[in-house]
Amino acid sequence: MSRAVVWFRDDLRVHDNEPLALAAHHHDEVVPLYTFDPRQYAEGMFGLRKKGPHWARFRRESVLDLRESLRELGGDLLVRHGEPEAVVPDVAATFDADAVHCQTKAGTEELTTENTVRAQLAEAEIPLERSWTHTLYHLHDLPDPVDEMQDTYTPWRKSVERGASVRETLATPSSVPTPELDADGTAVPTLEELGVEAHEVDDRAVLPFEGGESAGKARVEAYFWEGDHLREYKQTRNGLLGPDFSSKLSAWLAHGCLSPRYVYEEVKRYEDERVSNEDTYWLVFELLWRDFFQFQFLEHGAEFFHRDGIRGVEKDWRTGPDAREAFETWAAGETGLPFVDANMRELNETGYMSNRGRQNVASFLADLLQVDWRMGAAYFESRLVDYDVASNWGNWAYQAGVGNDSRDNYFYVPGQAERYDGEAAYVKHWLPELEPLPPAYAHHPWRMSEDEQAGYGVQLGLDYPSPMLDIDARYDEMR
Ligand SMILES: Cc1cc2nc3c(=O)[nH]c(=O)nc-3n(C[C@H](O)[C@H](O)[C@H](O)COP(=O)(O)OP(=O)(O)OC[C@H]3O[C@@H](n4cnc5c(N)ncnc54)[C@H](O)[C@@H]3O)c2cc1C
Repeated sequence: MSRAVVWFRDDLRVHDNEPLALAAHHHDEVVPLYTFDPRQYAEGMFGLRKKGPHWARFRRESVLDLRESLRELGGDLLVRHGEPEAVVPDVAATFDADAVHCQTKAGTEELTTENTVRAQLAEAEIPLERSWTHTLYHLHDLPDPVDEMQDTYTPWRKSVERGASVRETLATPSSVPTPELDADGTAVPTLEELGVEAHEVDDRAVLPFEGGESAGKARVEAYFWEGDHLREYKQTRNGLLGPDFSSKLSAWLAHGCLSPRYVYEEVKRYEDERVSNEDTYWLVFELLWRDFFQFQFLEHGAEFFHRDGIRGVEKDWRTGPDAREAFETWAAGETGLPFVDANMRELNETGYMSNRGRQNVASFLADLLQVDWRMGAAYFESRLVDYDVASNWGNWAYQAGVGNDSRDNYFYVPGQAERYDGEAAYVKHWLPELEPLPPAYAHHPWRMSEDEQAGYGVQLGLDYPSPMLDIDARYDEMR
């Protein structure tokens, strides 16, 4: 009789899951395992917590859903709270496993953990079988090896679209025979037990973002099929309000509740059954951005966390107490620039922010305030429900002008606000104190005279923050 442990990581699904499929195919018994690594919730860079309440809640729900799916397949999920370096070899030994299967992906800490686990297992002569499962295109199918890949997106994308194809999804195993596990062994810790303070989801959120493969698939169903929104995705994707301006699949993809190949196959099916146009292609185009950062991270590793980025671009970053204060004002959504504040408050309350919002708040911190961009990236890590190491640090570096495109591409945020939130509906959604103002003032409240402030009943410094600096003058300086 042979037995394998499947160590789940950022692949919390039973569909298109190579480690699970291989273990179920080659072994008589499978021990599915998830361990909550306490380091995820510990203090990280700049004294900020690594993962925060939104990510932790989503992760926990995803694990619960995975356990349910495994039970439906006749199996179960062993759940631990501890570092994988200790837990995985211990479980492999306890269950007398012949092999351990797991996902591998880009990420310096993830790779270090995985290599330590592998070394420990090797001592017990148990092989660690790793599968690349986090991207749309498989690592081994890329036209050029990762260490020779182009550092700019467009030529890289074109070469991949020309020279590679997407593999088919793997079927969910028909059964996952698991040895008897006692109830204690399959209990999922509460947020409190994980040391994370729960944060109620704000009912102004674009979606409740329930974790798990079932909710992820339901979101595909709702957005693609019931709502029929894919046909206009490219036209609406820069929106800010409501569930359907974009797919909102990022959290399910980041935690691995959905496989990107599954999403791709659903796009193809939609193109066959409904319509194939630039908008449907554009969702795949965005999944390629996601791939690009995953492979870039694999190539550059820890350089992704360097202040000067992968290209060694030296810029004059502010550090020290005044930069910290500016950072905190930004993080709290108290800058006095409503478009920034509304986005930061949405992030803080829900864990989500639109792509347009992310670009603007990143530009405000890095370009306008010149605060070390890595503080922003670390803050996003602690707040995002869809945090993904490669997408987050790659996009931040890009926006800060030290990443895959080192041109200065700052956003004039008040102009962006007028363009994408013409009626100021978005800023008023998150900053109801600005409700009485006409759109021009809702986007530029500092331009109101004292009489106007009194007339509208919105007093700067009292009802809404006075701007943290002379915003118009600072943008003039930057032009
Ligand atoms: C500063 C900054 C930080 C970011 N941090 C993250 C992060 O930690 N995790 C994350 O998943 N995305 C991140 N993004 C990318 C992007 O903003 C989100 O993926 C997107 O807003 C999620 O909403 P959606 O699922 O509705 O996206 P859609 O517009 O529906 O896009 C479909 C999918 O494509 C992928 N995608 C789209 N845009 C990008 C992009 N620019 N880079 C990488 N993948 C992309 C996502 O997986 C997304 O779910 C960041 C962007 C910026 C500018």
